[in-house]
Amino acid sequence: MLDQHVLVLNCGSSSLKFAILDAQSGDELITGLAECLISEDARLKYSYQGQKQTESLIANASHQQAITRLVDIIKANKLERSLIAVGHRVVHGGEHFTQSVVITEHVKQVIADTISLAPLHNPANLVGIEAAEKAFDTLPQVAVFDTAFHQTMPKHAYLYALPYELYQQHGVRRYGFHGTSHHYVAKQAATVLQQPFETLALISAHLGNGCSVTAIKNGVSVDTSMGLTPLEGVVMGTRSGDIDPGLFNFLTQQLGYSAVKIDTLLNKQSGLLGLSKLSNDCRTIEDAHLAGNAQASLALEVFCYRLAKQIAAYVVPLGTLDGLIFTGGIGENSQLIRQKVIDSLNFFGFKLNEQANSQARFGQSGVITSNQTGPQALVIPTNEEWMIARDAAALALEVI
Ligand code: AMP
Repeated sequence: MLDQHVLVLNCGSSSLKFAILDAQSGDELITGLAECLISEDARLKYSYQGQKQTESLIANASHQQAITRLVDIIKANKLERSLIAVGHRVVHGGEHFTQSVVITEHVKQVIADTISLAPLHNPANLVGIEAAEKAFDTLPQVAVFDTAFHQTMPKHAYLYALPYELYQQHGVRRYGFHGTSHHYVAKQAATVLQQPFETLALISAHLGNGCSVTAIKNGVSVDTSMGLTPLEGVVMGTRSGDIDPGLFNFLTQQLGYSAVKIDTLLNKQSGLLGLSKLSNDCRTIEDAHLAGNAQASLALEVFCYRLAKQIAAYVVPLGTLDGLIFTGGIGENSQLIRQKVIDSLNFFGFKLNEQANSQARFGQSGVITSNQTGPQALVIPTNEEWMIARDAAALALEVI
């Protein structure tokens, strides 16, 4: 069997994550990150053949310049020879894309037309696409959308109760994000549970710096906690999650806040950071909680309560439950948060296996409950890069 190596590019607003991996095995050849782009400290870190390297990029390096350097590294190590495709993570596909697609001029135009819904991310994604097209002009380029998996949500789940024209004329609706991750871990969970994916009722909790919860029924997303933007839903590292929209009026009228200040408050200063007054990093908060810091304990209580409430709500679209999946940096590593959430959801019949829960960290996956009947809780490390590589390889092999 020929190598099916795929270059995966994930352009964030000021970062570029990359990897070359085998679409069949998931084995990684090279992985890395260009960070602090468009700042003095722009740098590139990568790991190749067990060696970790960090190099400074020129001050204020752009995504384009980071990609140019990445291409040099790839070519210097002759890694381009086994590539069969480039897979791009694209944050927002609006209502246009229900699955991954080979990138054409039309696809790029639609991504550009969707910039109003993801003003920080879609432009960076387009830069990544155009740079990769130039550097690897014979390879198929594939877009994998963070929103695509959630396009199966029914209308009653994705509409806001707002004047309908806002949806019709401006696309104001719930889209959901982290779709690639939810899809990947749900499929893995079906393998662990030894049941066909298409027959299961699953809830997946992706808990990283951004957090979202998705209800998956018979293989498709039927509801998810993020909305028009990734701000809606459960409490996150620095994002508030759900709030009363009346807060906007209070902050503008009573405290004189501008729209920009409110946006910063809700996206960058809230969540675990705002509540704990300490950090957005869950490890720091857990350590402070164990050391008796009451503010840290409060942040964890709010985080877990709101998360458990969101999970319980998804019994409505699912009607039943076979598995609850924890993933993302917190979901994969925090024994404490999993235990608190499962304890609050005892009515489902979960019986936590404390030993399995304490062992499930640092990339270990498995079932962490021991009840004989009813749903199981699982820890499944996410692997968005592999999912992107698999989609890109499958589409590339169709067009080659
Ligand atoms: P991600 O965005 O998926 O990389 O996840 C980042 C989050 O995972 C941060 O809040 C980290 O503090 C959290 N995290 C990573 N390792 C641990 C751990 N061992 N215990 C608790 N939280 C962790």
